[in-house]
Amino acid sequence: MTQFDYDLFVIGGGSGGVRAARIAAGEHGAKVAMAEEFRMGGTCVIRGCVPKKLMVFAAGHGAALDEAALYGWQVEKGRFDWAAFRHRLDAELNRLESIYTRNAETAGVTIYHQRAEVSGAHSVRLADGREVTARHILIATGGTPFVPEPYRGLGAMTSNEIFLMDRLPGSMLVLGGGFIACEMAQVMQGLGVQVTQMYRGKQVLRGFDQDVQEHVAAALVQQGIHLEVNTDLTALERLRDGRFRASCTQGRVREFDAVLFATGRVPNVAGLGLEAAGVQLAENGAVKVDAYSQTNIPSIFAVGDVTDRIQLTPVAIREGHAFADTVFGGTPTAVDHADVPSAVFTRPEAGTVGMTEEEARARGPVEIYMASFRPMQTSFIGAETKALFKLVVCAVTRRVLGCHIVAPGAGELIQIAAVAIKMGATKEDFDRTIAVHPTMSEELVLLRKPVR
Ligand code: FAD
Repeated sequence: MTQFDYDLFVIGGGSGGVRAARIAAGEHGAKVAMAEEFRMGGTCVIRGCVPKKLMVFAAGHGAALDEAALYGWQVEKGRFDWAAFRHRLDAELNRLESIYTRNAETAGVTIYHQRAEVSGAHSVRLADGREVTARHILIATGGTPFVPEPYRGLGAMTSNEIFLMDRLPGSMLVLGGGFIACEMAQVMQGLGVQVTQMYRGKQVLRGFDQDVQEHVAAALVQQGIHLEVNTDLTALERLRDGRFRASCTQGRVREFDAVLFATGRVPNVAGLGLEAAGVQLAENGAVKVDAYSQTNIPSIFAVGDVTDRIQLTPVAIREGHAFADTVFGGTPTAVDHADVPSAVFTRPEAGTVGMTEEEARARGPVEIYMASFRPMQTSFIGAETKALFKLVVCAVTRRVLGCHIVAPGAGELIQIAAVAIKMGATKEDFDRTIAVHPTMSEELVLLRKPVR
């Protein structure tokens, strides 16, 4: 029998890779190695969910001070001290990175802190030139921000750089309409930056329920962001003083202190040796896998953003875990990608699970239950921002096919709604549940008549 250096070699120490390595080694006793070329923890921990959410909290405290003043508190609001925040953020990310490293090592995983590339069906080449063999290889290299060709090399930021700014700019152009663009636009505005958000599509949050798109867009505008949809960048120039001059399809030319491209992410496969090893890729570069995350090369598997199924941390983790159970635990496990809940951490947040109204209508008759109102907490102080609670119900089976919430704490609420929906709850199950009063989410069980 062929002898390999390892049972498993994982390329990428992010959400999916770390979970797969830890379960394979710690629970199933496999001999596992992993390569990470940047920092352990990957996008989520180092330059995604975690630093983003901490910035959301930071911006939220500013808004809370404004609200407190309107409630009657005597508050003196100063400027946001980015340097102090950065200092704390760096320390927190270092702490988390060392926890990820320690947990993997405790499970018995050997970590190579360098780049690795696939050199064959059972071999990997490390950046230091060593060749390592493994019975199985797991590609967990994630994704990377996409910047359109003409604008590369100008010094504009992506989400990779935004957490590393030395100081806050006075003004910022945010390009893109996805969840990262919306969150970053609002965080920056909340920290005192003048933000223009430009998106070439007709509404932000493409793919989300249309009512969610409209509620979030309205909130962005109400909070002072210059939101320009149906507008594309036509030229970007770096000026001598370091600022940017941007031209757009509407003909306007403006200058900004900083520019953030949040124009999508692409699978991280460049130079990974996958084509040479015969691994099939989709047109956009994503590694093609079956339900068990196996590629067309039987010894090579892939999980997480590099497979471009659903680009979310909990999905990558679930895929990594299922891979380890399938290959090393003797329990073939396919991940169920249906009804995955997700949140957009704008102010208010959006939380969503299941089908949008548009998706559900395409499949059959539906009833739409919806409440849109100004929440008590902020309407008291005159804020116009509206909350949304929406259920998409199958008119035949009565099952709730989708739940969409725009409200403070929607990210927390949708997790619970997702359990009910995953269990197959009907509209009548929601109806027989007694409300918690006074809350916003009581609307979910008080929606009596369909609006359409
Ligand atoms: P990653 O976490 O990206 O890990 C891949 C790792 O592989 C990286 O550490 C990389 O350095 C390493 N690597 C790549 N190539 C090599 C190589 N050749 N050799 C060695 N190492 C390599 N998801 C949510 O669920 N909720 C959120 O709120 C959320 N917010 C986000 C905000 C931002 C700004 C961004 C960018 C993403 C956000 N995401 C969020 C998405 C989430 O971060 C990803 O879905 C998740 O990190 C994917 O995990 P992964 O294991 O596939 O890849």
